[in-house]
Amino acid sequence: MEKPNIGFIGLGIMGRHMAKHLLTAGYALVVHDLNRKPVEELAAAGAQEAFSAGQVAQKSQVVITMLPDSPDVESVALGPDGLIDGVSAGLIHADMSTIAPSTAIKVAKALAGKGARCLDAPVSGGEVGAANAALSIMVGGDQATFDEMLPIFKVMGKTVTLCGPNGAGQTVKACNQIQVALNILGMAEALLLGAKAGVDPAVVHQVLSAGYAQSRVSDVRAPRAIRGDFHPGFKAKFHLKDLNIIMKTGSDLGVPLPATSLAHELFTAMAATGRGDLDHTGVLTVLEDLAGIKARTKT
Ligand code: NAD
Repeated sequence: MEKPNIGFIGLGIMGRHMAKHLLTAGYALVVHDLNRKPVEELAAAGAQEAFSAGQVAQKSQVVITMLPDSPDVESVALGPDGLIDGVSAGLIHADMSTIAPSTAIKVAKALAGKGARCLDAPVSGGEVGAANAALSIMVGGDQATFDEMLPIFKVMGKTVTLCGPNGAGQTVKACNQIQVALNILGMAEALLLGAKAGVDPAVVHQVLSAGYAQSRVSDVRAPRAIRGDFHPGFKAKFHLKDLNIIMKTGSDLGVPLPATSLAHELFTAMAATGRGDLDHTGVLTVLEDLAGIKARTKT
């Protein structure tokens, strides 16, 4: 099959890398973002500019969105001058943002009413995964639409999994964000306890990373955290957004999430004290405040 024209909306930390990979792979790309700078960058690399989601839909057979939160996806898809205004029968909308499963289902139903097919396809792997086209992509939707999108997903990611019907991709992403948040807290408390006892956090990290306590979060972020580098990466305010989705989903389903609720409170403290734009591993600084000591390496 010929390569479809792809529309890409949301060219932030993640989206700009993902869009560039699609251009490099030879897809004709139409791009839109409220921030014109990344739009101009991609236009210089060969993409066509658009000024609304509706315009993007008119010019595309596939539209990918990579936006901050549920209300953003809902307004881009269903709001004034949204995808719903430009959609033609058969268009595929793949939303790769992390949003509430319930919003993914609502958007999919509304666009299906106009003949579009929808997938929720959130990602894991962070900016590094986006830059290296190595994302893990978890998809909710039907098998035929998944099969059609697979070559496009493969341009941006390494592991692509159909998890179930619409909403299932977002549910698996919520599970992912639980495990990442709790890994970060485990890493932070281990580094801090070691530091307060007088052990260099670099030594704690080195030893833990060689044994059963090893984690990807720690491998990637501990060396930066113990140098006080909390440049995002993944902004803490976005992890708080995800924890809000998780707590609401847990409540809707009647699933108690006691450890996640602790993470939720600590990330709330992070945002409330002006640290929401730090990398999510910056929650270490909240625990440092509580402990009255910093977990910084001496080397
Ligand atoms: P970002 O804030 O860097 O990018 C979002 C982009 O969307 C911005 O450029 C913004 O201008 C644009 N935007 C917002 N509203 C818009 C609208 N109405 N119309 C057009 N453009 C609009 O965010 P990001 O870090 O790239 O994350 C995007 C999504 O991916 C989020 O849901 C996040 O949770 C998820 N995610 C991020 C990471 C990461 O490491 N950054 C990892 C996995 C998943």
